[in-house]
Amino acid sequence: MHAFVYNVIRSLRSGGTAILDSAALGLAPLAPASGERLAEQAYQALRAAIQDGALEPGQRIPELELCGLLKISRTPVREALRRLQSDGMVVHAAGGGLAVAQHDLPAITELYDLREGLEGTAAALAAHHADRAEIAALEAIVASHRGLPGDPALHARENKILHGAIYRAAHNRFLLKSLQSLHDSLALLGRTTFAAPGRIDAALTEHAAIVAAIARRDAPEADRLARLHVRHAYEIRLEQMMREPPFGSRAAIPKGTRA
Ligand SMILES: [Zn+2]
Repeated sequence: MHAFVYNVIRSLRSGGTAILDSAALGLAPLAPASGERLAEQAYQALRAAIQDGALEPGQRIPELELCGLLKISRTPVREALRRLQSDGMVVHAAGGGLAVAQHDLPAITELYDLREGLEGTAAALAAHHADRAEIAALEAIVASHRGLPGDPALHARENKILHGAIYRAAHNRFLLKSLQSLHDSLALLGRTTFAAPGRIDAALTEHAAIVAAIARRDAPEADRLARLHVRHAYEIRLEQMMREPPFGSRAAIPKGTRA
């Protein structure tokens, strides 16, 4: 279902106007289901598309196009969009209609400040609480990243896997919940920072150092290194914002996930 929505979105992007050729894109509508179920499916698919970067911050979401492609009525589509609005992931666009939300600079700074604290705390708690199997898993993830091709979207996904493993190794349900909600907001940042030159190698080195500190139970160092890692991502994010025009004034960029 998600691949289907990605194709829809890719087609929405082409040329700025909606040119939707479902046959050429290999699209299939959502399977018939109750209205409530359809709304849930549409919600999950759109949410995943925003999370994964198939739908970009600032991009318009044409309700009628979605109805036509998903072959469902407006009611479940509207319900899905309403839920995304209450999640803060979709907002009213200037000039009418809806668009994917995007953060302004102060919000991005606040977001990274919080992330720095939470990631540092997660790494420190992991240094205290991770069991041997969890540490071995973290080390295996870091080692597996070394041989990967230099694809930013791939590294952004793998980055999430590593950080998710650190969160779980921290063994704190409230921290985990806070980080999950933070990641909804991070999804609205746009292009992955792994697209910046040199960032993939630098992040791999930073990850290895964080995991090494966790493995030797050095909580203060794990905390410091994790914070530094987020700080570097923030600096790159700012550089990217300076260089890249907002959505709509550039050609479609490759789908990617966020760091
Ligand atoms: Zn990372």
